[in-house]
Amino acid sequence: MLTESYSVNERGHLTLGGADTVELAERFGTPLYVFDENDIRANCREFKDALEKYYSGGSLVYYASKAFSCKEMYRLAKSEGLGVDVVSGGELYTAMSVGFPADKICFHGNNKTADELSFALDSKVGRIVVDNIYELETLNSLAEDKGVKADILLRIKPGIDCHTHDYIKTGQIDCKFGFALENGEAAEAVRLALGYDRINLVGIHCHIGSQIFETQPFIDAADIMVGFAKEVLNSTGITLTEINFGGGYGIKYTAEDKPVSKSESMRILAQSVEAACEKHGFPLPKILIEPGRSILGASSLTLYKIGVIKEIKGVRTYVSVDGGMSDNPRYALYQAEYEAVVANKADKPRDFEVTIAGKCCESGDLIQENTKIQSAEVGDTLAVLATGAYNYSMASNYNRSPRPAAVMVKDGEARVIIERETYEDIIKKDI
Ligand SMILES: *Cc1c(COP(=O)(O)O)cnc(C)c1O
Repeated sequence: MLTESYSVNERGHLTLGGADTVELAERFGTPLYVFDENDIRANCREFKDALEKYYSGGSLVYYASKAFSCKEMYRLAKSEGLGVDVVSGGELYTAMSVGFPADKICFHGNNKTADELSFALDSKVGRIVVDNIYELETLNSLAEDKGVKADILLRIKPGIDCHTHDYIKTGQIDCKFGFALENGEAAEAVRLALGYDRINLVGIHCHIGSQIFETQPFIDAADIMVGFAKEVLNSTGITLTEINFGGGYGIKYTAEDKPVSKSESMRILAQSVEAACEKHGFPLPKILIEPGRSILGASSLTLYKIGVIKEIKGVRTYVSVDGGMSDNPRYALYQAEYEAVVANKADKPRDFEVTIAGKCCESGDLIQENTKIQSAEVGDTLAVLATGAYNYSMASNYNRSPRPAAVMVKDGEARVIIERETYEDIIKKDI
């Protein structure tokens, strides 16, 4: 199987976290998102423990909750001692609703509204990552009105071009997020931030992209960010004490993907920051990271019921499932790769080449093209692997499809963490 999280039991059924996925589909219905709690917790610990082991300057791991935002994930992150990164009022609201410690919340976004900034200040979030000059000014005046001071990081584009899909690259100058280094925007932002008396500039942030397998971009980021912190020290006398390196650690979606382990990524990051501090003559900053996908993406799957199988002679065979781009838009959005398995025939060879289609009224509603699954029939259960990140969180009610339920499995036992939407839920806001 793709990773150790997935296995096949004596009935020939696919399992995740010790639970028989065919039984889960029968019990909870389909489409169904399934997550393995032990595996997700192990991922949290691997990042946290490795940073503590390899880095002496202090660290905090924020779970980038846009990957999968729901109450249970904030509870889980809290119980593992992680912080969370949120990028909207809605994510912040969800975190606060389960009593997430506000000082361990980091608030992001390239166009935060005044209402969202106000909500963040009222909630006393620990860090606001300021994206642009307009936000700096708005935040300062809101903080003034409320009689508080905002602890901020500035979002920097370090000018690193990593090898991933264009839509998930965020480190280069032509990108909507943050201040560029090479044209002096970042230095100007620092100067402005220091001039506002309701702003406390604590550090700098970068996030170079997502689903990255190479280690060099992170090594480069360490050198560039520490180098910039040193320039700030030289020009202003201010020592930035935190550098946030964002997320982006790649996961295994297909057998071809070869991700670096989380602990190895952390060892490399820690050593690169230490080396950069030595080179530039800068005191060790606290390292912050924000993994999203790598916390839970590969500890999960989506279950569907297979319906129509349409063989178009000489063209291709479409296998249609009872979900689609409404619960997983990632193939339609950027041709994301996935592996799929017929869950009730998981011990059989995958020798049937198909295109997996959804049930939405859209030709582009595909989950995967020209992929191999086991020989399938109507009524089989199809599992699409590694769907934990950016699936539920990107799901929609397109065609008025109710959003699926999500279950968390722990040691073979499953519990619902998000209920399936009903038709009644869908018309609830209609007047
Ligand atoms: C999306 C995002 C992350 C998480 O990225 P992953 O690739 O899921 O690890 C972290 N930080 C910021 C600022 C982001 O936008």
